[in-house]
Amino acid sequence: MFSLPPGDLSLYLHIPMCKSRCSYCGFYSEPTAVWEGRVASYTERLVSEIDQLGTRDAPFYTLYIGGGDPANLTVENLRLLLTAAQRQGRPREVTVEVNPESFDESFFPLFEERLVTRLSMGIQTMDQALLSVIGRRTTAADNRRALSLAQEARARYGVDLSIDLMVALPNQTAAGAIRDIETVLSLCEAEHLSLYCLTVEEGTALARQVQDGTVTVADEDGQEAFLRSLWAHLHGLGFEHYEVSNFAKNGRYSRHNCVYWSLDDYLGLGSGAASTIGSFHWQQNQDLIGYTEANPFDGYEKEETDTWEQAEEYLMMALRTTWGIDKVRFFERFGLDFDRMFSKAVARCEPTWYIDSAQNFAITEDGWMVLDEILVRLVMEIP
Ligand code: SF4
Repeated sequence: MFSLPPGDLSLYLHIPMCKSRCSYCGFYSEPTAVWEGRVASYTERLVSEIDQLGTRDAPFYTLYIGGGDPANLTVENLRLLLTAAQRQGRPREVTVEVNPESFDESFFPLFEERLVTRLSMGIQTMDQALLSVIGRRTTAADNRRALSLAQEARARYGVDLSIDLMVALPNQTAAGAIRDIETVLSLCEAEHLSLYCLTVEEGTALARQVQDGTVTVADEDGQEAFLRSLWAHLHGLGFEHYEVSNFAKNGRYSRHNCVYWSLDDYLGLGSGAASTIGSFHWQQNQDLIGYTEANPFDGYEKEETDTWEQAEEYLMMALRTTWGIDKVRFFERFGLDFDRMFSKAVARCEPTWYIDSAQNFAITEDGWMVLDEILVRLVMEIP
């Protein structure tokens, strides 16, 4: 059983069910043959874990149902999860991820009842040829239809929209990626965009294609050129670049993801889900069938981290955001003086990579281009 903290806590529910595998995907997710016939038992176990969470009487701060493609659960099962997770009251934000090909009007009652306040959709690209290259099941026509429906949900029920796009795809040009952004925004008024470069994960179909030469992906310089022109374009459209890969209009940040980037407490339930509560991490086995057959709370591996490890994790997460590190809070939280600890490493960084004041240390867009390099320099200073 998890020991729940008295303060704010977010909840993440993981639904690792996909209809087919995208060629670049390195996430844990199971194909239809594994999960079909198990959506009810998977939902039941999640609901029983939520119900047995103990004497918590406050609403979750945020709730996020992600995957995989949670739409595979069906609207009825999603409703069971959403209701169970909101018995103690409404979270500040409730996000559900869906794949475009799975999204239709049957989801609208969830918005109408305010069980869901934010819809996150993985569009990736509007280019049919590129969708095929990265092995997406969805078509460009699916993407168009789903974006128009999402816009309808936004207009009718005030749902916030977040759209994921991938860039630096094989043979894609920066102009083509900008065209994707323009097309998406012509179909829906998304207030949040996530922009990821295609990366080659070991063991994926894409990795094999790159190895045998059938697909070529952009190198680091190519990716940087892409990102620079797309970031500039999004600034021009009024989006705030508030995290390395995330953009928001009118302060509509992903509150749930901000919890991760602040290393605040969140509980993750479901096969493959991770949690962080105080100095503890939990990780559930990546075994969807095992999850449906075991007792509630079986299979969550617990690990304790010390202050140094927490400070390192915090650096890696917080420096992804435009707010960076609040030095006073860093001291209150970890008992560490940021300037005393990191000033030598900071001095070895290019001045254009960061903004350093008495109160804060944050990375600039120039710095985000070399974030890993900066993090290595800082982390080396942690004993
Ligand atoms: S839909 Fe998402 S989780 Fe499923 S295979 Fe594609 S990238 Fe992976």
